[in-house]
Amino acid sequence: MGYMRQSHLFTKTRKEAPSDEVSQNAQLLIRAGFVHKEMAGVYSYLPLGMRVLQKIENIVRDEMNAIGGQEIRMATLHPSEPWKQTRAWDNVDVLFKIMSRTEKEYTVGQSEEEIATPIAQEYTTSYKDLPLAIYQIGQKYRDELRAKSGIMRGREFTMKDMYSFHETQEDFDRFYAIAKEAYLRVYTRCGLIAKATEASGGSFTTKLSYEFMVLTNAGEDDILYCTSCAFCVNTEISDQKEGEVCTRCTAGILERATASEVGNIFDLGTKYPHDFGFTFKNTSGEEVQPIMGCFGIGITRLMGVIVEACSDEKGIVWPRAVTPFHVHLVRIGESEAVVQAADTLYEELVRQGREVLYDDRDVRAGEKFADSDLLGMPTRVVVSEKTIAGGVYEVVTRATGEKTMVTQEMLLSAL
Ligand code: ATP
Ligand code: MG
Repeated sequence: MGYMRQSHLFTKTRKEAPSDEVSQNAQLLIRAGFVHKEMAGVYSYLPLGMRVLQKIENIVRDEMNAIGGQEIRMATLHPSEPWKQTRAWDNVDVLFKIMSRTEKEYTVGQSEEEIATPIAQEYTTSYKDLPLAIYQIGQKYRDELRAKSGIMRGREFTMKDMYSFHETQEDFDRFYAIAKEAYLRVYTRCGLIAKATEASGGSFTTKLSYEFMVLTNAGEDDILYCTSCAFCVNTEISDQKEGEVCTRCTAGILERATASEVGNIFDLGTKYPHDFGFTFKNTSGEEVQPIMGCFGIGITRLMGVIVEACSDEKGIVWPRAVTPFHVHLVRIGESEAVVQAADTLYEELVRQGREVLYDDRDVRAGEKFADSDLLGMPTRVVVSEKTIAGGVYEVVTRATGEKTMVTQEMLLSAL
């Protein structure tokens, strides 16, 4: 929901992105005024960027709530103790460590098993308390060595991280399967096609994992996928080769592609419950450790991948589900008749609850069109002397550049 006059919009477009910015996603987002670069791998999100983030977050929320996830907000400033208890303090290379003035050590969350597990433990005494799945959407901090992929690899970034706890392996497997489907729905709803790689866990703590991959040259992963079925593997862990026949369906051939990991789900087994002494009474009355899973989605990376996948030489082409506004109403001309016609249409669109950005600025037509292409709203509606004379509006589809002249009635029904 929402609408805005562009003359009131806090940000402006700019001709150039910072010279040290090499990634396409950040260049476009900076030029369009969606994000502001603080340093390599760290970005602030401005009003248009916030609107996109909120839409992505709401899609993720919706799907996590639908499978029984309950949203919480965990602390991001952490004491060092739980991190020492799991030995991550010395083993996780991306962990930032902070020394306070009283020489107490802290860290900031790079993932939050160390916080989520003790929280779940506090409220779980019997099998009746399980299964449970808690999640948050929040900031993560990682001391990444290379941060050249714009918002796709941040030193600070937004992640949805969910942690689930189960009485039995069977119950974990059940939840894992529905979580995988929910993940695929998230990406589809965001306008992307993601493939789930089959992989054993990447680290010693994990038994089974899926990585969700979107094909894009801006990605940092190398995958093999079947041309016929859904089979997909990360080349890093597979001994299969490009061009081989798919072992799953035996119909397709394995093709190699560059991809970006936009999420992953892990079976963590009992590693964290073990480290924290987390047990509960199972159905047979025995004290046992729960099976734990973790489920991550890179929210800001997803936004970056959308920009990489959905853009052209003129700018961004937002998928409808995550666009900051659905309609970009562009007024060309300053005459009383044009201003009145455009204002009236704006008010009507607002009254109907459309998400509309209204370019009511007094600038040249060429600049307005270039800005509109850069900002990337899916539908542009132009009001000018010419359209008024014909009693119509010009509607331009951003993705194809296709232009049509429509009456107000047609316009409102088409939207
Ligand atoms: P990568 O291999 O890309 O470093 P990861 O295996 O370290 O990812 P996780 O720790 O499982 O990733 O984090 C969950 C999700 O968070 C990832 O699937 C990815 O989408 C996102 N993510 C991870 N690191 C970053 C980062 N530095 N910037 C933005 N998003 C990230
Ligand atoms: Mg990583």
